[in-house]
This record gives sequence, structure tokens and C-alpha cells, in this order.
Amino acid sequence: MAGTNSQIVFATNNLNKLYEVQNILGNQFKLVTPIDLGISEDIPEDFDTLEQNALQKARYIFQKTGISCFADDTGLEVEALNGAPGVYSARYAGLQKDPKDNIRKLLNEIKGAENRNARFRTVVALIYNAKEHLFEGIVDGKIIDQERGQNGFGYDPIFVPNGYTLTFAELPLSEKNKISHRAKAIQGLVEFLHGTL
Ligand code: IMP
Repeated sequence: MAGTNSQIVFATNNLNKLYEVQNILGNQFKLVTPIDLGISEDIPEDFDTLEQNALQKARYIFQKTGISCFADDTGLEVEALNGAPGVYSARYAGLQKDPKDNIRKLLNEIKGAENRNARFRTVVALIYNAKEHLFEGIVDGKIIDQERGQNGFGYDPIFVPNGYTLTFAELPLSEKNKISHRAKAIQGLVEFLHGTL
């Protein structure tokens, strides 16, 4: 049973993600980052599935700290490309990890394709009291053929979630954060953690 203000490590250096999750989680758990614990090296993520990468990151931190922790990994899975770029989404067009290059490459690869179905999928791996748990969040949508919108990041300007006409980059961030793949995966994590109280 977790006490009030139990510490959990979120294996990320992205403070936006950290604040977003802390906000949903409430103050019964205190999220800390690897940097807070003096771990500043890049955490390895060199597998070819989201699940293995998320688990690898969480295990790495757990082995170093012994503190319950979680990590996330996300990919854009495009039907016409048999699920690519998937786990390679960040470096799809090269190790410079440039979102504009990635979008250009993706639009080129699916040029003329009738099937524009795609989904964002997030996997969160949690190690809690030394046991491993996985949570998944998916948002289905379509890839349009020109970028639209200034919000968000990554592939947001070319992704229209089902049931919407605006891209993720046109929707206000608060709206995206209600329906996103990451929000859904985090919701699963948060429900689990609240269930331990
Ligand atoms: P990460 O696992 O959150 O670092 O995501 C890996 C890559 O997936 C990012 O570099 C982006 O290219 C893409 N990605 C993840 N989440 C989103 C999102 O919410 N919108 C657009 N692209 C995303």
C-alpha cells in the first residue's frame, strides 16, 4: 500500500510531460525525474517495439534507484505503411529527428495511397513494488496530405483524429490532451495507482 506522497520516478526529461502527468495524478504521488536523482545519461531505448522500449527504460531506472517508476514510448502507426513509422517515429527521416523532415518523408511514402488510416499508440511501462505493468492508449485518425496548424509537435499537423475535422496541431492543446493516445495510457496508469491507495 502506498502512503501519501509516495515517490515515483517518471523516466523522462520532458518537463511538459511531467507536469501533465503530475496534474492528472494529483498530489498523493510525487513524480520525480531521473535528473532529480542524479541520473543524467541517456536512457537506452534500442528495441523495435514500443512495449520493449518502455520496459527497458523503466527497468533501467528501477535497477539504478529501486524506486517505483514508469516510462512511456509512442509511435504513429500508418496502415498503408504496415504500421510504419511506429517505434521509429522520432528518427523516421534520420537521426537529426527533425519533425518537418519526418512529415515530408511520410507524406511522400503515402502519396496517392487511398487508405489514410493511422493511429497514435502510447505504451506506458510501470514497475510498481518490483512488479511490471503495461498500459496502452490509442487514438485513431487519418493522415491528410498537407500540414495544418501550429500547436503540438511531431506529426500533429498532418493527423486528424476520427470524429474531428481539425488536425491535432489545430486543436487547442487542452482539447488534444483530453483525447490523445498519451492521455489514455496515462489514465490507465493513474487508475491503477489510485487503486493502490
Ligand atoms: P515519444 O516516445 O513520446 O518520445 O514519441 C516518439 C515520437 O513519436 C516523437 O518524436 C514524435 O515524432 C511522435 N509523437 C509522439 N507523440 C506525438 C504526438 O502527440 N503528436 C505528434 N507526434 C507525436
